[in-house]
Amino acid sequence: MPNYKIDFKPVIEKINKKNIKIIALQIPEGLKHYSYTIVEHLKKNINSEIIVVADPCFGACDIADNELGKIGAELIIHLGHTPILNSKKYAIPVEFVNAFSSIDIKKVINNSLKYLKGKKIKIVTTAQHIHKLDEVKKILENHNFNAIISKGNERIAFEGQVLGCNFSVSLSNNEDYDCILFLGSGTFHPLGLILNSKKPVVVADPYTNTVKKDEIEDLKDQILRQRYGAIANSKNSKIFGILVGLKTGQQRIKLVNEIKKLLIDHQKKYLIISMNYFLPTSLEGFRDIDCFVSTACPRIAIDDYLKYKKPIITPIELEILLDKRVWEDYEFDQIL
Ligand code: SF4
Repeated sequence: MPNYKIDFKPVIEKINKKNIKIIALQIPEGLKHYSYTIVEHLKKNINSEIIVVADPCFGACDIADNELGKIGAELIIHLGHTPILNSKKYAIPVEFVNAFSSIDIKKVINNSLKYLKGKKIKIVTTAQHIHKLDEVKKILENHNFNAIISKGNERIAFEGQVLGCNFSVSLSNNEDYDCILFLGSGTFHPLGLILNSKKPVVVADPYTNTVKKDEIEDLKDQILRQRYGAIANSKNSKIFGILVGLKTGQQRIKLVNEIKKLLIDHQKKYLIISMNYFLPTSLEGFRDIDCFVSTACPRIAIDDYLKYKKPIITPIELEILLDKRVWEDYEFDQIL
């Protein structure tokens, strides 16, 4: 597969030791166009029938174990993400198979060196480049930087790995460092990193061979202005919709109860609303709700804010709205 190395051998061996009749295959959007090739490869090596799941799959939080179990799947192969939950939480066994990027990173890392601030550099990346972090570390050390790769919390499978909802590697052990170097593409993870760590973030994108720093600062300022506006616009809200995600890795029921208590203490009314797939149109019918507070994927309120007709805020932003926290202590919502 161009640009990716996927090792199905361990999962094929496991499947062949059991008599599994039906397997479900969850594939992230970026790899869906290889579905047929992947299934052909698997079928050459195993005797099970394979059902490919077409529903969007945004992360390892999004395992359709209950639904697929109901149609007879005995095992799920989840491609392109790493485990975030204890395997006992799933209705049927789930095998995670990572898709490792084979793209070269030397050029872009060398290009990124002049953008780094200070000498102590935290290096982070996503699951697909995780095997390249040691190479990044060596390049930095050859240029007299102190490169740090940190362990995240239990939701994080590899040292130095970030998720869009979890930047625990950037805060682990109160380590002191000057700057973050992110290996990967897009602004989704860098935005979370800069909001969370409050350190400069340099993005080295090996796909485009480009390095970004100022754009990430500008995006942070733009998003913070938007979040400030969302809180200010919701200040007079009387009825709040507390959104509960149904996806296994997004459920935060304890947080729902804390929010409920906070709202009651501030003489606010609430309605608890569950959702599986978040669509702005699904919330349009709730006309009597003034503001939604999302306890599901933290990125919904931040990245999709403009798609919703009513303000949608994070639990931390609700604390600011209710004067339980000051704006200066703003934090990016995470699932830890
Ligand atoms: S909760 Fe959101 S950011 Fe976290 S893994 Fe799921 S989709 Fe990604």
